[in-house]
Amino acid sequence: MDGSRRLLRAELISVGSELTVGETRDTNSGELARSLTGLGVAIGRIAAVPDELDVVVDAFAGALSRADLVVSTGGLGPTPDDLTREAIARVAGEEPAVDPDLEGWLRGLWSRRGIPMPDLNLKQAWLIPSATALANANGTAPGWWVDRPDGRVVVALPGPPREMRPIWADAVLPRLRERGAGGDHATRTFRLAGIGESAVAERLGEELLRATNPSVATYARWDAVDVRISATGAAAAAVVEATARRVRDIVGDHIWAEGETSWADAIGTVLEDRRWTLASVEVGTGGGLAALLADRAWLRIAEVLDPDAPAAATDDLQSLAASAMARAAADVAVAVRGRPRTEDTAIEV
Ligand code: AMP
Ligand code: MG
Repeated sequence: MDGSRRLLRAELISVGSELTVGETRDTNSGELARSLTGLGVAIGRIAAVPDELDVVVDAFAGALSRADLVVSTGGLGPTPDDLTREAIARVAGEEPAVDPDLEGWLRGLWSRRGIPMPDLNLKQAWLIPSATALANANGTAPGWWVDRPDGRVVVALPGPPREMRPIWADAVLPRLRERGAGGDHATRTFRLAGIGESAVAERLGEELLRATNPSVATYARWDAVDVRISATGAAAAAVVEATARRVRDIVGDHIWAEGETSWADAIGTVLEDRRWTLASVEVGTGGGLAALLADRAWLRIAEVLDPDAPAAATDDLQSLAASAMARAAADVAVAVRGRPRTEDTAIEV
């Protein structure tokens, strides 16, 4: 195999009819995509395929024709409809065979449970010559790391997230890092409030949003509109900084944080600097503000008032805040009222 191939572009395949009939949500791909993106590996495609051998073979063959790295989850179970091993073997043109070490490990699991191992499970001890096993401490399906002769890599992981995650973190990521996977890259995310995603996009303009390196993307999240700037290549950091300055010039008036900072983090920083405590009161927001601030030490009281309760109906926000502040002996208070509007909720602070 050619270990010098740079692993810069990946495709993800989720295998399982439970995904394509909509019974199970594909959360694995999103997690893997995020992890790989953080490593500087670009994701070329994410696909979900049913448990049909021809379709799974086709997915792996196609992905391997385009990407340096193919990562799959699912289809490693013991039953005849779990076909990921068969599909990879076929694409590699190799014959699977029972690996004695894996078989010993697998039989050991069953004997410790005190039950004979069903013959069906023996295929979970399969390997092909170009595959090495990725130990699974939380299930009976080891993953596969497959080195292709041209330096491409296929990684097959079990579908259950609690099995997939530790194998990815403990076995695959270190090996990818060792292989120097991913290119130079830089990212910066601004978090915005008080402006909608389309207004942000309109201000930033097509030229910025259509560019691919740097790429500038907007995401409407439940607690913010995020603007993510990313670039690849040797000048990535400088390119991102220059673009971040442009973005700041355009929407800086709405930026309240960077990166993964939450509202509780951002407010907490300010309060902790001043050693202040906070009382919050909300009316008609379903406890959204309390949920946002969570159980931070500086939060003395988080009141959620029924809009029809006497005080909530009559008092203005200032008196509600003052009352909560006095009762909680807090240094500062915030009061919020939500009122249903035709299509959304009007918020007054
Ligand atoms: P499998 O490895 O195909 O036997 O998958 C076993 C179980 O893992 C499925 O029944 C799902 O509950 C879960 N699973 C499989 N693929 C995914 C996925 N892409 N995202 C989240 N859960 C999954
Ligand atoms: Mg399956």
